[in-house]
Amino acid sequence: MPYTPSTYLPYDFANRRHIGPSPEEMTEMLEVLGLQSLEELIGETVPDSILQAEPLDFGKPKSEREMLWAMRQIAKKNRAFTTLIGQGYYGTVTPPAIQRNILENPAWYTAYTPYQPEISQGRLEALLNYQTMVSDLTGLEIANASLLDEATACAEAMTMAQRVAKSKASAIFVDRDCHPQNIAVIRTRAEPLGIEVIVGDPFTDLDPEKVFAGLFQYPGTYGHIHDFTGPIADLHAAEALGIVVADPMALVVLKEPGAMGADIAVGSTQRFGVPMGFGGPHAAYMACRGAYKRAMPGRIVGVSVDSRGNKAYRLALQTREQHIRREKATSNVCTAQALLAVMAGFYAVFHGPKGLSAIAQRIHRKAVRTARGLQEAGFTVEPAEFFDTFTVDVGPMQGVIYKAALAEKINLRRIGTTKLGIALDETTRPASIEALWRAFGIERKDKGGDGEYRFPEGMIRESDFLTHPVFQMNRAETEMMRYMRRLADRDLALDRAMIPLGSCTMKLNAAVEMMPITWPEFSNIHPLAPADQVRGFAEMLDDLADKLCRITGYDAMSFQPNSGAAGEYAGLMTIAAYHRARGEGHRRICLIPTSAHGTNPASAQMAGMKVVAVKSAENGDIDLEDFRAKAQAAGGDLAACMITYPSTHGVFEETVREVCEITHAHGGQVYLDGANLNALVGLVKPGEIGSDVSHLNLHKTFCIPHGGGGPGMGPIGVKAHLAPYLPADPATGGTGAVSGAMHGSASILPISYAYVLLMGGAGLTQATKVAILNANYIAKRLEGAYEVLFKGRNGRVAHECIVDTRDFVDTAGVTVDDIAKRLIDCGFHAPTMSWPVAGTLMIEPTESETKAELDRFVTAMLAIRDEIREIAEGRIEKGNNPLKKAPHTVEDLVADWDRPYSRERGCFPPGAFRVDKYWPPVGRVDNAYGDRNLICTCPPVEELADAAE
Ligand SMILES: *Cc1c(COP(=O)(O)O)cnc(C)c1O
Repeated sequence: MPYTPSTYLPYDFANRRHIGPSPEEMTEMLEVLGLQSLEELIGETVPDSILQAEPLDFGKPKSEREMLWAMRQIAKKNRAFTTLIGQGYYGTVTPPAIQRNILENPAWYTAYTPYQPEISQGRLEALLNYQTMVSDLTGLEIANASLLDEATACAEAMTMAQRVAKSKASAIFVDRDCHPQNIAVIRTRAEPLGIEVIVGDPFTDLDPEKVFAGLFQYPGTYGHIHDFTGPIADLHAAEALGIVVADPMALVVLKEPGAMGADIAVGSTQRFGVPMGFGGPHAAYMACRGAYKRAMPGRIVGVSVDSRGNKAYRLALQTREQHIRREKATSNVCTAQALLAVMAGFYAVFHGPKGLSAIAQRIHRKAVRTARGLQEAGFTVEPAEFFDTFTVDVGPMQGVIYKAALAEKINLRRIGTTKLGIALDETTRPASIEALWRAFGIERKDKGGDGEYRFPEGMIRESDFLTHPVFQMNRAETEMMRYMRRLADRDLALDRAMIPLGSCTMKLNAAVEMMPITWPEFSNIHPLAPADQVRGFAEMLDDLADKLCRITGYDAMSFQPNSGAAGEYAGLMTIAAYHRARGEGHRRICLIPTSAHGTNPASAQMAGMKVVAVKSAENGDIDLEDFRAKAQAAGGDLAACMITYPSTHGVFEETVREVCEITHAHGGQVYLDGANLNALVGLVKPGEIGSDVSHLNLHKTFCIPHGGGGPGMGPIGVKAHLAPYLPADPATGGTGAVSGAMHGSASILPISYAYVLLMGGAGLTQATKVAILNANYIAKRLEGAYEVLFKGRNGRVAHECIVDTRDFVDTAGVTVDDIAKRLIDCGFHAPTMSWPVAGTLMIEPTESETKAELDRFVTAMLAIRDEIREIAEGRIEKGNNPLKKAPHTVEDLVADWDRPYSRERGCFPPGAFRVDKYWPPVGRVDNAYGDRNLICTCPPVEELADAAE
């Protein structure tokens, strides 16, 4: 072929990679919908009245290489110094085997929250290991599978203690030696709930009669190691609880909270192999006495049995959670830090108890040597006994030494005007210790350890931990690598199949977007590093905030909330602060449609608001008359409404502007839950249609992977009038702080930023349109087989659709659960089940899925419909059929086959791959059994042996 200028082929890299259907496939799909163009579909779907006037334009989109280059320029503006600031964040070594096989492995990071246990056994086992580790280290019976960060975990512990304490006092005592960010977040959380926070010295200021709990930091923020046995006993005598906020690395060598009588322990597992990341993400842990398990927030992994009676893991005690209990839930935590908990758990598996002890002892000895060097040069070190942290009183020399340390590329903590804080960690090298001494004017060689220990008398840990065989296995990397591989293989994540989870937006998390997060310039930065070391972060945060504001129509962004639910809480607190500032603090009523996500009412409750539910109309829209009436009734007490747009029913409601107007007319503010932003980007700006504040789920719309249940980021955008009330910096005790670090889990923001740079304005808009196309294509293809419950004006859905399966219970005895499990046989993760309408499936394919994958899904769904018909028509037994017996395992295949259908049909239904068949490792899991026989740590070996037989 002759090459001429007209043969030039433009190649649109990023958009083409991110968007599933090829241009040819899109044409075919539009034909199925009877449409000429994507524009025609959008015209039929999105109401004209809300379309944004100007197209999104961020200039030319970047290719992958251009984006990486741009990101490098930004990264270079961050400087990763040796950081000895401590205050809850420490240098740590991520074992490369964990970095590569977990953090950088899509089998782990693209997985969803393990609500479907049969396809989640790998991550459930990893999380159970984590819980066992936490339970062992803290000496308490029950642990959850992570909270958002240490500061929010402290706040959760406070509200949990208030729920379970017999004491009816309304105050909490908080150790003045807590990290400042912990106190700040506790204060924010306490205020709307009417809890008084008393900060003081546990040994002189605690009056147990006045409080429902006392919360103590261990070791304290300046390094003190106190035994809280006495204060906790006093609290118990007054029927109040003791909460210990403990560093798990210290617990390796020091007396555990359980041995002090603590009821609840919380803390951060950051230093178990998870980099500081300028504040996050890291998994916070919570452990408690067994008696309080039902009051525990967050997800708990438990052990149960499957249909053959074999051991199987699943999430336990789910009735505590917000999606069931709404404003009465134990907390609003939904997305937590699963991936980071998995990493921390593997860090413990990787090192084992002896390895951890060696690491903890080494950290301590380094700290002792450093302190001795200072003391021998005449400096005063405090406290005399410590684990890894101490302070030096340098009087008027503070500024000089601080700067001298900076010149040695070392960050110290400034305390008051005369002291410097020093915290050593796993990464501290002799050269750093010598450089530190130099900053203090000491010329000295670090000659390594002579085994001096400075632990307080009686505070050395005496009990065993990590005795379970999983922590005792051969530590050869071959063994570790294969264990991680085995667990990953048990799970079904996005690297195998579409995960069509309505509302969760399981889209592509592109490899190139993930690359910058492990660069040391992003990952090895302390959240309190001086401003001139984080100019890259500042630049990225500014530009990302600017782009997100242009996408949403808001004027300001806060990156502090580290999940969607945290964003809801932060947004409502911002609204509350605004009302207060205007002398209208009495406004407390929050209108929330019954179809709202469970986190909405749970967050409103936490913000001190009174939830008033608004009905849905027949067609699924907000019942406008009911809304108007309830707004009217609330009148001058109306604080806010919380709406989701497009609605959780998957429809662009025509009345959204009216809902906003009614709310404003009564002096309320509009909170628009931004979880469905994937249907809006480039087409509609929440800030332009009347909303005042929204959270954005960056782990949905903006490509941060779900990680099997976190991390996430839930920044909030606000209109200008709310901007003054956004959360302040927690580390400096700022008001309204909602998480431990100013910018939340900042180190995963490069993922979203990369996505935006790669796509550009036009690419993002195209993604939205294709997301809507994919959803409508599925809805159309399922027509006749399943009823799509809610549709818009022209019979179109938004970016997701709800199919009704309720009739099948009557006609064939088939439940929505049966369909979900049968989809596993077909090689799919089920759509969202029974939310927002019980007995239905909500399907959201996202723009990233190709037509071939959508067709495979449709094939599976249609085949399932045929099976249901067979049962309904009596051609196959109601109790013994492929749906009731789903999912089918290899075990089923080789066992006696007493079923009225073939093995082939059971195991290889339409949609399933022949060669690349996904085999669930367990049959259907018995949830009720697990809750009746609650086990939340690794089960004893005998049972393991049984299961292996
Ligand atoms: C996912 C979701 C949330 C909560 O977000 P998390 O990050 O899980 O806390 C809130 N509302 C809706 C509609 C959602 O889909």
